[in-house]
Amino acid sequence: MSDPIMPETIENPYPIDLTPPDIERWREGNAGLDWIWRFSADRPGPHLLISAVVHGNELCGAIALDRLLSEGLRPRRGTLTLAFMNVEAYQNFDPTDPFASRWVEEDFNRLWDRETLEGPRDSADLRRARAVRPVVDAADHLLDIHSMQQPSAPVALAGMAEKNVALARGLGIPEVIVRDGGHAAGRRLRDYGPFEDPASPSTSLLIECGQHWEAGAADLALDCALRFLLHFDAIDAATAAKLAPPPATAPQRVLEISGPITIRSDDFRFVENFTGLETVPKAGTIIAYDGEDPVTTPYDDCVLLMPTRRLWKGQTAVRLGRYTAPV
Ligand SMILES: [Zn+2]
Repeated sequence: MSDPIMPETIENPYPIDLTPPDIERWREGNAGLDWIWRFSADRPGPHLLISAVVHGNELCGAIALDRLLSEGLRPRRGTLTLAFMNVEAYQNFDPTDPFASRWVEEDFNRLWDRETLEGPRDSADLRRARAVRPVVDAADHLLDIHSMQQPSAPVALAGMAEKNVALARGLGIPEVIVRDGGHAAGRRLRDYGPFEDPASPSTSLLIECGQHWEAGAADLALDCALRFLLHFDAIDAATAAKLAPPPATAPQRVLEISGPITIRSDDFRFVENFTGLETVPKAGTIIAYDGEDPVTTPYDDCVLLMPTRRLWKGQTAVRLGRYTAPV
């Protein structure tokens, strides 16, 4: 097993327009585990899980959950669990070094396979993942709220299973639905267990709400959470409308990811300052160098998804994809 990856200082060129809410009052939870809140209705229904701060420096999910808890929102059927995940990382958030608190010792969102969760390795992030695993196991459907390093239109990461693309369509936003197979560096929460199993009725979606610290990311996080609850009939439209006015929607389209570009050298650099969702018209265009090797686009109209500034060996540098024909 490789050592956990330590955060490094990454220069931040973006304004910090969001304020991390003080979530201390939500510490105790009501489900036997810190930072986890669970509410059940009398009427039967699915168990819905909305998770925030899987990455500690992604503030929009914490803002959305803080709002839902403050409003006293309750499901009208089934069970709703609201989970602040990697809170230790979140509490380390420092606006003067805002990339550093993505995790404590390693990426909480690359730990979600049985070998890692049940293996001998240890880290602060892994301990929290192990602690919250029963919370995830108990859920039928997951909405995992995230944001992105670079300014880009929001995207829903739906994995490969058609059922999760259908969930994204059920929410109606954001416009771009990404079908992708995750990362070489490890399995994401949204890919865990039955969520990505086509034979299981469980579904999951990861929403990237925009750049980490832009105001619009928090609005979208709340809107996605309400739409997720509406989709499963856990709240009614009047309740959703009271908390957030429905925004204008555009037709959704699916971005099919052909694969991640995983960094193989200690010297990976992009040829341009890509921020995400750029379309490169011609196949064979050089977009980066990994050591001496050029990284080229494999097909025409290749779309770059979420290029990273964490250009370290073994990590995903960027994902490449194509829009499928609208349905
Ligand atoms: Zn994230």
